[in-house]
Formats: sequence, C-alpha cells, structure tokens
Amino acid sequence: MIQSLALSFVFAIPSFVLGILVSPAWGLAFFCVVLALRQLKSLRYFSRLENWTRDPSAQDVPEGAGAWDEVFARLHRHEKEMRAAIARRDVELQQVAAAGQAIVDGIVTLDTDNRIVWCNIAAGNQLGLDLRSDRGQPIANLVRQPAFVEYLAVGDYSRPLRLSSVRDDGQVLSIHILPYAGGDRLVQVRDVTQSERLDQMRRDFVANVSHELRTPLTVLSGFLETVRELPLAAAERDRYLAMMAEQSGRMQSIVQDLLTLSTLESSPPPPGTELVHVPDLLGRLQRDAEALSGGRHEISLAADAVDIFGAESELASAFGNLISNAVRYTPAGGKIDIAWQRRGSSAEFSVTDNGIGIDARHIPRLTERFYRADLGRSRETGGTGLGLAIVKHALSRHQAKLDVFSAPGSGSRFSALFPATRLTAESSCAKPM
Ligand code: ADP
Repeated sequence: MIQSLALSFVFAIPSFVLGILVSPAWGLAFFCVVLALRQLKSLRYFSRLENWTRDPSAQDVPEGAGAWDEVFARLHRHEKEMRAAIARRDVELQQVAAAGQAIVDGIVTLDTDNRIVWCNIAAGNQLGLDLRSDRGQPIANLVRQPAFVEYLAVGDYSRPLRLSSVRDDGQVLSIHILPYAGGDRLVQVRDVTQSERLDQMRRDFVANVSHELRTPLTVLSGFLETVRELPLAAAERDRYLAMMAEQSGRMQSIVQDLLTLSTLESSPPPPGTELVHVPDLLGRLQRDAEALSGGRHEISLAADAVDIFGAESELASAFGNLISNAVRYTPAGGKIDIAWQRRGSSAEFSVTDNGIGIDARHIPRLTERFYRADLGRSRETGGTGLGLAIVKHALSRHQAKLDVFSAPGSGSRFSALFPATRLTAESSCAKPM
C-alpha cells in the first residue's frame, strides 16, 4: 500500500514539473493519464484474482507486479499451507476410519437427528446397513425392531439393549448408544450370541441338576418320614431302607458324574506320553460289563494289539460308559460286541448291540447333559443322563469323535476313531488289517 502511494507520489513529480514548464492543464492531464493507466493495470490484476478465486489452486496463483505481486505471493503461500493441512487431515481421517473398521464391534455414528453419519463394516453386517446408500438416513427407518426404535426414542442410554439379530439368524446383539460431542451419538453393537448361549446353558444346567437331585431327595425324605413315624414290621422297614439306599445311590451317581464332567472340563489335556494298553483295559471293562449283565447278555471282545497315548482313567470312563449303556439298553438275551481295531494308521473303538436302538431324531442331542431318549429305561437302570456327555468330552480330549448309528428295534453302534498321532509308532506302522 505504501509502495503504491510512493509510486503515485513519484508520478506526481513529473506532472508537477510539466505543469510549471508547459502549463498546469498539461501537468494535470499527464497525471490523470498516468493514474488511469495504473488503474487499468490494477483492474487487470483484479480480474485475474477474481478468475482465480472461482477455482483456486496453488499452481495457478496469478502473477502481478508491485503491490499485487506481494498479495499474490502471500495468497500462493497461504493456499499451499492450506492444501498441506487438508492433506494431513485427510490422512488422519483415513487412519481414524481404518481404526474404526478394525474394531470387532459394530460402530455407527449418528447426528443430532439420529441420521447415519458413518458406520463400520461390522455394524453394516450386524444391522444390515450399507453406508453408500444409507448415509444421511434416519437409523430408525433401517433398524426397525420396535425395541430398538423405543430405546432410541426414550433416550435412557444408561444400559445397553439386548436385541435378536435383524437378520433372524439366531444372533443376539447388545446395542449401546453413547452420546458424545454435544448432540451426536455413537452406537456400539456387540455380538453377544456366544455369552448369551453360555448363560442359557448355565441356567438350563442349574435347573436340570436341581430337578435331577430333587426327585430322589423328595423320595428319600418321604421314606425317612414313613420309617420314623410308622410302626413298621422288620421286613417292611428293610424294604424301605433298601429303597432309600437306592435313591441315595442315585444321587451319588449324579454327583459323581458331575464331578467327572467338571474334572474333564477343567483339567489340562491328557498327556501324549502316557501309554494305555487298550486290549488290557477293554478286558477289564468286559468283565465289569459281564458283572452288570449278570449273565443276561452275550458279550464278546475283539481287540488288535494297538496301544495309544492318553489318560487311562478318561478312556476307561468313555469306553466303560458306552459298554454299560449297551448292557443297560439291550434286553436280556441280546448280544454286545466290543471291538478295538486298527484302521489304516488310526484305530477305532466300537461297541455294537442289538438292543432297543434309538430314534434318529434323538441322535444329535444324545451327548447333551441330562438328555435321555428313553427316560423310563434310563431311570430304571440307574442312568444319570450324563454318561454320553462324559464320553464326548473324554474322547475329544484324545482328538476322537463319537459316531452313533442306531435304529429303533435293531440296536446301536457307538464308535470313535483315534488319530495316528495318538498311536505308538509300532501300532500305527503295523501291518494293515
Ligand atoms: P443315561 O445315563 O440315561 O444312560 P447317557 O448319556 O449315557 O445317559 O445316554 C443318553 C441316552 O442315550 C440314554 O438315556 C438312552 O436313551 C440313549 N442310549 C445310550 N446308549 C444307548 C444304547 N446303546 N442303546 C439305546 N439307547 C441308548
């Protein structure tokens, strides 16, 4: 500005000299012409500036002379700094967005009117949102479950909301709205299906255990009262005492099986170095089965000379449960075949009976705790409903899986294949069958 005034002053001197030497009119005219020329030049620069402001870019900042040059240079610097700042913000924004995508939980940000501003992929999947088409839409128009709409509207976000998945696939979501930055809101969506399932299993389990123990306890206390209050003959009294012993034995079996299950669940995996002589083990279990059968069944054993690494007590529990089930669910006169056979580099345990068999609809649920296909027979024969749950656990700890083939009236075959990694080198390399 000062430079511009100084320049005007510089041009005033020749005008003044011309005014004295020629005439004041000539001096004034010269000064006016110079001013007009300078004005024209300024207009040109101004028009350049105006054009540039329509689409400003650091490369095309207009050039000028004098004071204009200084202005344009400053503009150029400012524009460059701004571009750099914007680029830095872009990178930071991209990093924040990438961090948001990396979060396992679903995240949706909403504006003050509950319109979607941004969401990560997890939230997109959980709530069925697509950011490209749903940005700016009110979330209540897209997540329409009444419970969610009410949660959003009521505005008490002190606790998260439990919601069945919008996709109807059994998923359970925990949705928590967290207000931030004034009126904006962050919706946090967490998949709690697994913990919900575990909670349900725990509730069912406690209910089942209570139910299973309550029945013999009620019977037992009833008998106790009878024995205490009624004058019974000795034989009668013995009969009651025997029934009481049976009920307490049943409770003991349930508690024992529960303890076995809990040990299997909490103890470290079975050792890969302890050798179990399976044919010997099965020989002992066959004798136990004969004692249980009391001669009512024909029980055979065919065992290859194959030993495996594992925990003998767990294998005894798994094989013993399967064999005793075969005895208990096979009517007198039936046949039970226990087999331990090499299968390629693996080995298979199986027990086959020609007993009552199992309807196909029960088979997938047999290893659930307290699940019984035939409740009457299970109770009658002292079953706890926990045997196959124990079997499944013990086998899976040895990398073996229980297979069941059964048909009502024709009998059942329960088997488990042990992988080569559990077999001794001699066992897995021995001649194939
Ligand atoms: P339980 O103590 O009742 O026998 P399990 O868990 O051992 O419990 O078995 C679950 C259910 O599977 C039994 O109640 C029975 O209905 C069925 N089951 C098991 N083994 C056999 C078998 N060999 N033949 C027929 N049904 C069987």
